[in-house]
Amino acid sequence: MVPSKGLAPYAAQETASLGRRFAEAPPLGRGEFQRDRDRIVHSTAFRRLEYKTQVFVNHEGDLFRTRLTHSLEVAQLARGIARSLGLNEDLTEAIALAHDLGHTPFGHAGQDALHTCMAAHGGFEHNLQSLRIVDVLEEQYAEFDGLNLCFETREGILKHCSLAHARELGEIGQRFVLKQQPSLEAQVANLADEIAYNNHDVDDGLRSGLITVEQLASVPLFAEKMAVVQAAYPQLSGRRLIHEILRRMINALALDLMDWSQGQIDLHRPQSIQDVRQGPRLIGFSPDMGQRQRELKLFLRENLYQHYRVRRMTSKAQRIISDLFQAFLADPRLLPTAYWHKSQQDQPARVVADYIAGMTDRYAIAEHKKLFAVGEYSVV
Ligand code: MG
Repeated sequence: MVPSKGLAPYAAQETASLGRRFAEAPPLGRGEFQRDRDRIVHSTAFRRLEYKTQVFVNHEGDLFRTRLTHSLEVAQLARGIARSLGLNEDLTEAIALAHDLGHTPFGHAGQDALHTCMAAHGGFEHNLQSLRIVDVLEEQYAEFDGLNLCFETREGILKHCSLAHARELGEIGQRFVLKQQPSLEAQVANLADEIAYNNHDVDDGLRSGLITVEQLASVPLFAEKMAVVQAAYPQLSGRRLIHEILRRMINALALDLMDWSQGQIDLHRPQSIQDVRQGPRLIGFSPDMGQRQRELKLFLRENLYQHYRVRRMTSKAQRIISDLFQAFLADPRLLPTAYWHKSQQDQPARVVADYIAGMTDRYAIAEHKKLFAVGEYSVV
């Protein structure tokens, strides 16, 4: 591991934090961003990630990534990259662990379905939902809703946002209106997410049998690393071959990101997080590695995410989400009591969306059965 350089002047510093929405006494025995990380790990939404789909539905196999193991891989990569660049590791880790909290059950299929259902009610965006969870929905503290995280953590969690929503969000949405950058820690977490999912989706795709090593040989980054591994270990096959290739791919992407980003930082020389916010995006891959990363992404899109067996799952998932949404909106008294009460005080469609978005894959399937399966008349 690259030794810690200490915090660079362009890193997010706790002493210069834009603070929490509700003032709190400083934490004892840990820093502000460590406290944010700890609050995220102890949240209800974080535990639910264990049973939410990344690509494969949670019950399809015990070895596939879930949103929880994905988030841990992102945090691990992001921390290493942050350390090498002299950035704030605690903030980077907090952002990485929280980055997928707002995901619906069934991955992107679930999010698309919920967005369609919510078209007439302000839409549904999973990044915005992640922020809504940490700002409003978590019920943990006596004095405030949500987790009351630092501005920098919230800024990193809100990775994308439509301009219309950004304007409604006030300070936290300002950077989308002003076209500014988030902290370098947020930029690192964002690209660590890409490195993690592109590589683990190759691993899970191979494990599922939906894609093959032979097909992947058409992807330059994979082919290059396979040649290196086969030259060193001509007899190697199966899982060990795949892992030896994948760890080299992950390493190459992470090292390239560190090198290129350090070069950009040296070129633009930001002296503070303010300079970072007002300057160009500094964290990125070299043009060559960026191209390789896009080729890998394209391969996965065409061969894995669009595979007919994945599409069957996603089309079923979309029906489940849309059935649930319509049933609950038509009769909010079908909602569990606490949500029904909320639907009396808030926009009912938003409360239904919050309830559905919070579901794990198996909970959504069970709710659908309770509401729609003929022959299911149990009241529990
Ligand atoms: Mg992610």
